[in-house]
Amino acid sequence: MASIPQKPFLAGSLREDLAAWCVKECTAKFRANQIAEWLYRHDVLNPMEMKNLPLPLRGALAADFLAPGSSIAESAPAPDGTEKLLIRLHDGETVEMVLIPGREERLTFCLSTQVGCPVGCLFCASGRDGLIRNLAAGEILEEFLLGSSRAGRRPDSIVFMGIGEGLMNFHELSKALHVLTSPDYVGMSPRRITVSTSGYVPGILKLAELGKEFTLAISLHAPDDETRARIIPDKVRYPIAEIMAAADRYLETAGRMVTIEYTLLAGVNDSHEAAVKLARLARIHHAKVNLIPYNATGSRFQRPARETIEAFEKTIFDAGAHVTLRTERGSESSAACGQLRRSAKYGKHNSQENGK
Ligand code: SF4
Repeated sequence: MASIPQKPFLAGSLREDLAAWCVKECTAKFRANQIAEWLYRHDVLNPMEMKNLPLPLRGALAADFLAPGSSIAESAPAPDGTEKLLIRLHDGETVEMVLIPGREERLTFCLSTQVGCPVGCLFCASGRDGLIRNLAAGEILEEFLLGSSRAGRRPDSIVFMGIGEGLMNFHELSKALHVLTSPDYVGMSPRRITVSTSGYVPGILKLAELGKEFTLAISLHAPDDETRARIIPDKVRYPIAEIMAAADRYLETAGRMVTIEYTLLAGVNDSHEAAVKLARLARIHHAKVNLIPYNATGSRFQRPARETIEAFEKTIFDAGAHVTLRTERGSESSAACGQLRRSAKYGKHNSQENGK
């Protein structure tokens, strides 16, 4: 249920769509390739900036398509170089995307897939109001193009870890993934794209069917169903056994090791027993564990003490599982996930971060 605009999005238009439009405009079909080049090679969304098109054609393109439908409404830079952008969509709704600089001048984009989120993890601001609507593929691609034009360059990698459960918006997400990875369009390697899920089993299986080497990150946050029920409401919560069976299927078809994302919450999922169980799960399913110490901002959840975090990581490492500890970025300003959007909506920062 994406909000259906009056006009199609130019971002996400395939060469055949553009060729059909050129026929309708009685203009040569090679113009379709020129438009696609501007969009997917030069990150130009505004037809008026497509300089090798005749002026009337630029006007016709702008009249017939949303180009762009979204704009950057606000920016929240953090001292660590991370920049969070509030993106205003064509209907006035907002989502967030983040530009994350890394080592050796690497750049990662964190993109959203929905306005709000149906999952409602209890520590996450983004799911607090439930799902408002899905993003269309064109809107997901507009995030990418707006971010590229803001950064003045393409990202080295993309993580779909922003607002929303992307695999519950599979139809639009898969269209966007096609444009991002096809050599005819953006042409990024699927290995440089991480799709994150809260463990939505039907979506994991559909992604596996694509047979592409996307990195799959599953936000498990607990090593057993009982603990998980204290963190994720039962609306779309699947049993861990089913999630990990889907992860096995993904490993089989995509040939990619799955990452288990694990937000560490003091007194909830940070015990030695939890670490032992998590390590066992990771080893059995050949998965990596990525630990994310919770960044508390007025929540009923708390970040564990440093010693607890280190002991948790060591237990997993000693058990022979692959484990990493995520360094929190962008939380110094109003940039923790979900905060910028809530701040724009409610005029104050009162939320917690997204745990993906
Ligand atoms: S952590 Fe992710 S899945 Fe959970 S509510 Fe937030 S956006 Fe949704």
